[in-house]
Amino acid sequence: MCSVQDGDGDIPVPRSAVSVDRVCMKCKVAKPVVVTRVNDALCRDCFIVYVVHKFRATIGKSHLIRDGEEILLAFSGGPSSSALLHLVQEGLSQRAHKRLRFKPSLVHIDETGVLGLPSEERQKTNTAVLDVFRSTGYPCYISSLEQALDLPGGSGAQNASEGHSPCWCLDSEEGLETYNRAKNDKRLADIFKSIKSTTAKEDYVKKLRNQLLTTIAHRYSYSKVMLADTSSRLAIRILSDIGQGRGGQVSADTCFADDRHGDIMFVRPIREVTSKEVAMYNSLHGVESIFVPTLTTRAQRGSSIDHLTECFVTGLQAEFPSTVSNITRTAGKLDSVGRTRTEDICVLCHSPLDTNVGEASALRAVEFSDMLSKRGCDPGSKTTGCCGEGDGSCQSSKVNSLHNTDVIKTLCYGCRLTVKDMTDVSQLPSHVIYEATSRINRMRMRKDIQDFLIDGDS
Ligand SMILES: [Zn+2]
Ligand SMILES: [Zn+2]
Repeated sequence: MCSVQDGDGDIPVPRSAVSVDRVCMKCKVAKPVVVTRVNDALCRDCFIVYVVHKFRATIGKSHLIRDGEEILLAFSGGPSSSALLHLVQEGLSQRAHKRLRFKPSLVHIDETGVLGLPSEERQKTNTAVLDVFRSTGYPCYISSLEQALDLPGGSGAQNASEGHSPCWCLDSEEGLETYNRAKNDKRLADIFKSIKSTTAKEDYVKKLRNQLLTTIAHRYSYSKVMLADTSSRLAIRILSDIGQGRGGQVSADTCFADDRHGDIMFVRPIREVTSKEVAMYNSLHGVESIFVPTLTTRAQRGSSIDHLTECFVTGLQAEFPSTVSNITRTAGKLDSVGRTRTEDICVLCHSPLDTNVGEASALRAVEFSDMLSKRGCDPGSKTTGCCGEGDGSCQSSKVNSLHNTDVIKTLCYGCRLTVKDMTDVSQLPSHVIYEATSRINRMRMRKDIQDFLIDGDS
C-alpha cells in the first residue's frame, strides 16, 4: 500500500484542504466551480475551454477527420454521447472559435430489446431520443439490436447495400412506423434469456452493436463512426478486457482510431475526458441525458466482469484521482496487431485471431481440461436453425451443418468464452453463421487439396 502512495504521489486530498476562497487556477480571477484532476480548481468558463480543448485536440492530433467528411455519431442517449453531441453542435456553430468542418449524422441503436421490456417502456425511451434527434436537424437513423440478427450475409457489412435496410432513416413518419413494427421481434429477448452469464450477455450486446454500426455506416456511405467513450469508460474496458481474455484487443478497443471493421473506422474523440468532467460539462450547459436501462441497471455489484470492474475503478478513482489516467496511459503504450488476412480475423468481433497458437500453449491446455471435464456429454451440439446460406429463415440444417466446435475455430479467445455460454451456435447472427460456414468449407477444401498446392500456406 505504502509503495503505491510513495510512487506516484497520488494521495487522496482531504475535503477540508480545498479552500473556499480559492480563485480559478487558469484566469486567476473568477471563483472556481469545479476541481479537475488531482486538485486543479477552475471557473465555469475556463473549465468549458478545458473540456472543449481536449475534444478538439484529440481530433486535431489524429489528422484523420477531413473537412466536409460525413461522420456518423453513435448516440445512446447517455451522459457521454449527449455531451459529445453538444460538443459537436457547439463546434459547428457560427460562434465557435475555429469551426469544425465535418458533417455529422446521428444513429441510435435501441438495445432495450435484450431486457424484454414492455413495448410502452421502449417507446418512451425512443421518443426521448427522437426528440433530441429532431432538434438537431442532422440526418438521423434509428435501429434496434434485433436488426443485427439478420444482417446481409457474405462478408457481412461489405454487402450491406444489398438486401433489407439495417436501420430507418428518420426523415419520414413512414420510417418510424416501419421501425416500431420491426422492433417487436421476440427472438432477441429469447436468445438473451438462454445466455447464462451477464458477462457473456454484455459482450454479445457489444458485438451486435458494433456490427450494426458498421453495417449502417456502409449502407449510407460513411467511413467513420464517432463513439462517446470517455477515459473513465476506457479505463474500465482495459481491465475488463483483460479479465475476459481479450488482452490482445485492449489497444484497438481503447485507442482513438479502431480500424478492425474493414473500411469503417471507429473514432473516440472524447477519450481524454473523464466521466466526471462529462457530468460537469452537461450540468454547466444544461445538457440533459436520457435514462436508458441496461443489463446491469439495478444489478448487484459483481453481476458481470464489466460491472465489477466499473465498481472497482470508480471506487478507486474517488480516492485516488489519477487512477483512470494511470490505467489509460499504461494501456496507451500497447500496440495493436497489424491487419491480417480475412482468414485470421474473428468472425464475430473482427479482431485478429489469437487462437492460432502452437500445441504446447496455455490455450491448448485450457481446451484439454475443458474436454476432460465434458467427457461423457454430447460433444458439440449441431445447429438446427439455418443452413448458413441465407438469411436464417430457412430453419433447416444441411449435411455440412455446423458444429459448435467448428464455429469455435473461427473465433478469438474472448468470443469463444461468450459463444460457449450460448446453448447453440445458431443463436449467432445469420451473417456470422454464413461467414463461419464459408470459412470452414474453405479450410476443409484447402486440407483436401493441400498435397497439390505449391505453397502450403496459400
Ligand atoms: Zn478561470
Ligand atoms: Zn472475437
